[in-house]
Amino acid sequence: MDCLFCKIIAGEIPSAKVYEDEYVYCFKDIAPIAPVHYLIIPKEHISGASEITEENSMLVAKVFEAAAKIAKAEGFENGFRVITNCGEDAGQTVHHLHFHLLAGVKMGWGPESLGKTE
Ligand code: 5GP
Ligand code: ZN
Repeated sequence: MDCLFCKIIAGEIPSAKVYEDEYVYCFKDIAPIAPVHYLIIPKEHISGASEITEENSMLVAKVFEAAAKIAKAEGFENGFRVITNCGEDAGQTVHHLHFHLLAGVKMGWGPESLGKTE
């Protein structure tokens, strides 16, 4: 399958690994938007959040388990954010389900951080 993140999991494309277990892989984003910007991805190919089903939703729990472990291990004591972009309006560019793990900066919230609403 021609999927960038499947190739990263397979080791065909290099990545800066942060964490790995049976279900998920976590690596540094190549273009960080925060002092800490990691991507956590399920090892099984799911194209995005719209394709989460009763059969595969356990993997989403595994992603959040990994996020909590990483946050503890790396000492994100001031907090962190987990985001997934799904589809064009949300700006999804890689069609393998991934969760951005952001930390190390005070983050804004609200309409001004979401862009135009009309
Ligand atoms: P999206 O925009 O789909 O939510 O997020 C895709 C993310 O993947 C972006 O933040 C982008 O910087 C990151 N990315 C794209 N290609 C690569 C790559 O080859 N290696 C790594 N480590 N990150 C990538
Ligand atoms: Zn994939």
